[in-house]
Amino acid sequence: MKTRVLKIDDLNRDCNLIGEAAELIKAGEVVAFPTETVYGLGANALDSQAVEKIFRAKGRPGDNPLIVHVSNVRDVDKLVDEVPRRARILMEAFWPGPLTMVFRKASIIPDRVTAGLDTVAIRMPNHPVALRLIDFSGLPVAAPSANRSGHISPTTAQHVLEDLDGRIPLILDGGKCCVGLESTVLDLTADVPVILRPGGVTLEMLEEVLGEVRVDLNVLRPVAGGQKVKSPGMKYTHYAPRAQVLIVRGELAHIVKRINELAEEYADQGIKTGILATQETKDCYKKGEVLVLGKRTRPAEMASNLFLVLREFDVRGVDVVLAEWVDTSNEGLAIMNRMVRAAGFNVIDV
Ligand code: AMP
Ligand code: MG
Repeated sequence: MKTRVLKIDDLNRDCNLIGEAAELIKAGEVVAFPTETVYGLGANALDSQAVEKIFRAKGRPGDNPLIVHVSNVRDVDKLVDEVPRRARILMEAFWPGPLTMVFRKASIIPDRVTAGLDTVAIRMPNHPVALRLIDFSGLPVAAPSANRSGHISPTTAQHVLEDLDGRIPLILDGGKCCVGLESTVLDLTADVPVILRPGGVTLEMLEEVLGEVRVDLNVLRPVAGGQKVKSPGMKYTHYAPRAQVLIVRGELAHIVKRINELAEEYADQGIKTGILATQETKDCYKKGEVLVLGKRTRPAEMASNLFLVLREFDVRGVDVVLAEWVDTSNEGLAIMNRMVRAAGFNVIDV
């Protein structure tokens, strides 16, 4: 299959290109498109055969459910059993935006989308191309990130092409994604809402609107063998660069000291080492390929750089990445959720 890339420069002038993509969705095909978080690979959420093509193109495990994207809050009513009051409050506060909510599902949603769960995850993305595509198709669009399963999520059309060229018919290129990390996934089916995956809408932001919000323990910890999880995506080591990642946690001065020691050891052994540093520490490192995530005082900026920086380590061909732990308040929780998975939970305390 030939993969076409259509560049959307001007929303109104290039409207017909989005229309073409919408026709593909209506015809049961898959299309990659930009959202504010990462690029998604979308298909008609009401058609299991179309949804099947997403799993096939990505090589995604069948037990990992998909997020359904809408362009209008009214569309949610048809897809869920009931819209709780607090969901309305959250839609008002954060939609369109990087917040996915988990509801009890309506029977119209095929089991393939939800991997057999009785719940469905729904979000309204804050990107004009995504909103128009969903709107033109007139359908709810199931869409996971547009990468091969287990790879780093794509934040540009070029990343999508690197992973899925020849496997999907069309990519809409809307430039670089601004949030750069996947959405927050919030379970609203329990008494107290639970963050299953941290993202751009932070715990602090949710607490301000809702009061009590919990964070699932598996956000920063591995899922134990045989443990039943609320969000199957938690089981998988996503976001992995080719290099082996090791995270160092502790007081900042101790982190820097240990990373320098390790970098020295690796250099002696001829291991090509990358260091994931921050603006505040970058000049403290003597060896290795040092890349900067951002300023520690600006976690949203660090979050938006994370996947790009991890990909850059791949480009530079490092064998090992030594990464600093960052504070887990605000967007820091989402950063460390992705990082511990990229590291296969390889964290050393100093
Ligand atoms: P992706 O679209 O690749 O970013 O992954 C979607 C994420 O949403 C995965 O971590 C899923 O486990 C999670 N998810 C999707 N549907 C549900 C659901 N019904 N209940 C809980 N988590 C879900
Ligand atoms: Mg993904």
